[in-house]
Amino acid sequence: MSLRVIPGGRGDADLPGLLVVGASEVVTVAGGPRAGAGQAEVDRRSAADAGGPTAPNAPAVAIWKGRILAVGGRADLERVLAGEGYRLDLFGRLDARGGAVTPGLVDPHTHLLFAGSREGELELRQRGAGYLDILAAGGGILSTVAATRAASAEELAAHGRRWLDEMLGHGVTTVEAKSGYGLDLATELRLLEVAHQLGTEGPVEVVPTWLGAHAVPPEFRGRPDGAEAFVRDLLDEQLPGVVAQGRAVAADVFCEQGVFTADQSRRILVAAAGFGLRPRLHADELAPSGGAELAAEIGATTADHLATPSEAGIAAMAAAAADGRPVVATLLPATTWFLMKDHHAPARTFIERGVPVAIGTDFNPGTSPTPSLPLAMTAACLNLRMSPDEVLAAVTINAALALGLADEIGSLEAGKQADLVIWAVPTSRQIPYWPAADLVRTVVKRGKIVLDRA
Ligand SMILES: [Zn+2]
Repeated sequence: MSLRVIPGGRGDADLPGLLVVGASEVVTVAGGPRAGAGQAEVDRRSAADAGGPTAPNAPAVAIWKGRILAVGGRADLERVLAGEGYRLDLFGRLDARGGAVTPGLVDPHTHLLFAGSREGELELRQRGAGYLDILAAGGGILSTVAATRAASAEELAAHGRRWLDEMLGHGVTTVEAKSGYGLDLATELRLLEVAHQLGTEGPVEVVPTWLGAHAVPPEFRGRPDGAEAFVRDLLDEQLPGVVAQGRAVAADVFCEQGVFTADQSRRILVAAAGFGLRPRLHADELAPSGGAELAAEIGATTADHLATPSEAGIAAMAAAAADGRPVVATLLPATTWFLMKDHHAPARTFIERGVPVAIGTDFNPGTSPTPSLPLAMTAACLNLRMSPDEVLAAVTINAALALGLADEIGSLEAGKQADLVIWAVPTSRQIPYWPAADLVRTVVKRGKIVLDRA
């Protein structure tokens, strides 16, 4: 596979413009976040309608100084650009060579930063141990907490770079990164600072989320009021520290039976929202815990996992969506798969009830050690019964909505950041169809070519 890139296409060139041409299709996902029947409408512009990828008016994307100028037929675009005074010689040409072009993928839920690994739990689970059994035995999250507390910022950054590179290689241009393996203020601040730093380095953009309430840490366990004392510590010490640091843009809570109750989650998230942190929840992953209801009640940006929401919770999220204040159902089917569960999030119900659905990897060392959003897309097709087009909206514009960035990324439309992927397949419908294949040919971030498999 060789890709011809003429001068100006490269990220280090001086040309301010870039024209992406030669695509078999350009799927813009333009027009705002998707819900209901609209979840499947992705605005596919097919070159077949123009006579093929090399036809004069095949679909193309014009980029100027890191932003999308327009999407349209190449000849039409060139005429309009020239008419508006743009010099066409200031546009590099990037030839997609018959590949599909989509927005850069957005992973709306990852636990990017941690130390160590937990492959032993795979065998424990094979022998029947449950997530909460492993946690109660001091394993699970707590073993990662011990390793992460001992890791330096440099070690965490090296780990983060390695996995961000993997994600970029799967077409991901923006990633949410949660803290939550520190559970004490110093480590949580270190995780949030490293997440911020990695995003500054680029090319993958990183959105830091404070997940102080991920588990009750060892120093609070064994006390009769351990969880409650830790919640007070989160509210009185950690939250003010995180706010003062200014890196986190959202706050998340693991609202689940045996971890944090809906009432404790409400107190943390309402307090965090008071400081401007967007509320998110790990909700109803293992058992109905009032998470979906709480998300709707407090106007959370997202409710994540949702493998076992109650009917009342689904109804509350549907009502919130109908009211124009949707909670994004951020579903994580790679986790359900890796945990060998037979019960899956009711994605079809959320779509039928008008709740926007996003898909993420949940990348983490215990329950979803995959950095591949396309693999999660396959799992969404197979286990959540979502169509490939519904899934594409779920990992682009709806994932951007989950991060509060729907005006900036997640679709190819004028004015937005120029983040796109050229795939080595002719249609985006093949992205989930070839599980675990390397399908990414070229990635453009903010108008620059940041990955190119020639
Ligand atoms: Zn998670």
